[in-house]
Amino acid sequence: MTTGTQDANGTTLKQRYMDVQSRIATAAKSAGRRSEDIMLVVVSKSGSVEQIRELMQLGQVDFAENRVQQLLQRTAQIDEWRARHAELGGTAPVVRWHMIGTMQRNKVKKAVEATRLIHSVDSLRLAEEIQIAATRRETPIEVLIEVNVSGESSKQGVAPGAARHLVAQIDTMVNVRPRGLMCMAPLTGGADAARATFERCRELYEDIRQVGAGGERFDVLSMGMTSDFEIAVQCGSNMVRVGSAVIGPPQVTEESAES
Ligand SMILES: *Cc1c(COP(=O)(O)O)cnc(C)c1O
Repeated sequence: MTTGTQDANGTTLKQRYMDVQSRIATAAKSAGRRSEDIMLVVVSKSGSVEQIRELMQLGQVDFAENRVQQLLQRTAQIDEWRARHAELGGTAPVVRWHMIGTMQRNKVKKAVEATRLIHSVDSLRLAEEIQIAATRRETPIEVLIEVNVSGESSKQGVAPGAARHLVAQIDTMVNVRPRGLMCMAPLTGGADAARATFERCRELYEDIRQVGAGGERFDVLSMGMTSDFEIAVQCGSNMVRVGSAVIGPPQVTEESAES
């Protein structure tokens, strides 16, 4: 158990988690919004399984991973822990997994089986792949359309001008439900560039809602990470994906997670 263990920067996981929650609440208040309307998804990719368990015990439900392999490892480890809990007569905390990274086609099926919401759908082809997997598991899956608002070539995502059409196409699929949009701020340009990007994405989201292209439950706007989640909340985000501000210094690196 890592409860109370301080990291190099002298804070505990619990302190950082509470701090992020209060920063979300403050940002919401400053924008005249209710903090209950903003969902915190903890990005656990650089964290340990112990940290995930500790956060679950603090009441955190939603976790995100960006690589399918690690997602599957973690869901298996956490499921095992939950089952042990149940055997001992306890109530195992609820957990919901989000996929936020790019997926190779051959890993889509497994990702779909393990996730509640896929944030990173950026092509019709990927959506069709997801549709096949969701039909096989006989449960519809909810997805967000990732938009490359800033147009950086290093970024995944559909071009803003193509987003509405893609949403409408996905909405015709029986087992894939478009729930909203996801975007990331540009790597450079700081707070101003982040704000401009988030505002643009918000407009696009409102546009799609207005014309009804996403069907009846198109209500998620996933924007904001450690460096910009307060700006995102001010710009209308209702789902923030925060990793390092909660996790602290990385517990697993991309390399060590690869094996
Ligand atoms: C890693 C990641 C995050 C979280 O990043 P932090 O800066 O650690 O908060 C959010 N969204 C996506 C898509 C990511 O890959």
